[in-house]
Amino acid sequence: KLYNEVQDLKGNIRVYCRVRPFLPGAKSSNLSTVSHLDEGNITIMTPSKYGKDTHKSFKFNRVFSPSVTQAEVFSDMRPLIRSILDGYNVCIFAYGQTGSGKTFTMSGPKELTEEGYGVNYRALNDLFQISKQRKDTFSYEIAVQMIEIYNEQVRDLLNDGPQKRLEIRNNSQKGIAVPDANLVPVSTTEEVIELMNIGQKNRAVCSTAMNDRSSRSHSCLTIHVQARELTSGVVLRGSMHLVDLAGSERVSKSEVTGDRLKEAAHINKSLAALGDVISALAQKNSHVPYRNSKLTQLLQDSLGGQAKTLMFVHISPEADALSETISTLKFAERVS
Ligand code: ADP
Ligand code: MG
Repeated sequence: KLYNEVQDLKGNIRVYCRVRPFLPGAKSSNLSTVSHLDEGNITIMTPSKYGKDTHKSFKFNRVFSPSVTQAEVFSDMRPLIRSILDGYNVCIFAYGQTGSGKTFTMSGPKELTEEGYGVNYRALNDLFQISKQRKDTFSYEIAVQMIEIYNEQVRDLLNDGPQKRLEIRNNSQKGIAVPDANLVPVSTTEEVIELMNIGQKNRAVCSTAMNDRSSRSHSCLTIHVQARELTSGVVLRGSMHLVDLAGSERVSKSEVTGDRLKEAAHINKSLAALGDVISALAQKNSHVPYRNSKLTQLLQDSLGGQAKTLMFVHISPEADALSETISTLKFAERVS
């Protein structure tokens, strides 16, 4: 094994939690719901108007406070990410209500700076560096796909041509779940940034009817790595899915109608299906219900078995997000 660090990971499913800082311009009356936080625990306070406040604690593999930097978050995830060079499949999910910081963690802020780089840029940079360092013993091929799942339909975000619905296949030896989506070789950060921009633009094309499509679809960046040992010719393949999930907030039937209600139903269903799969895996159930959503079908090869999963939940600290915060933490507790 090239990176034994990964064997330190307890089990194949980990759950992390990150608390977003208060944003500039937040109302000062909107207090934080987080009453205690350390490396592995978070306590949420439910204020009571009539006497005793209620405190509820949750325990995770890692809890990140609002002051933690992108570099610090990445350094915790690094061993997991490097395990794809040993031929592991890895899935990282960003879960949380809209505005809780999922895209910030996975990609970075809108005005992207190097310091702000999210997990996807840092992961690819790391892989590029390692492949350079090891070029005398291994030859690496690194390629990416970027797809979106919206209303249970799969679209290629790296295809500028006319959009067609893509099929998920799970019989391919290469472990490519969506063989018809563009698979683009990458070797520099500049190439990656350019591709992400194309992906973002293609996502935006479809947001005419609604103002923000990104919070209502799942986007998945898949990194495929093939490592060939030069002397033996032995080839190892690993892949990593970095999934920025649709917002987990519940919408009530009284608030929305028509298309928006249909979207909400698809999102609920697929997030519930994901929760069911990971919780079945965490409990080592013999039956894992992969077939219940496009998302879990897509990732079937990368969830369970030898594959490694990180559920990274995000919460907004503000008091007015309390009920979503509790429901996010309960989801996370269920899959850990
Ligand atoms: P989501 O993708 O969950 O809807 P975003 O990632 O878009 O949420 O975050 C919402 C806003 O909060 C954005 O303006 C983002 O830049 C900011 N933000 C999120 N997390 C952080 C953080 N850890 N530090 C600073 N700003 C953050
Ligand atoms: Mg987002």
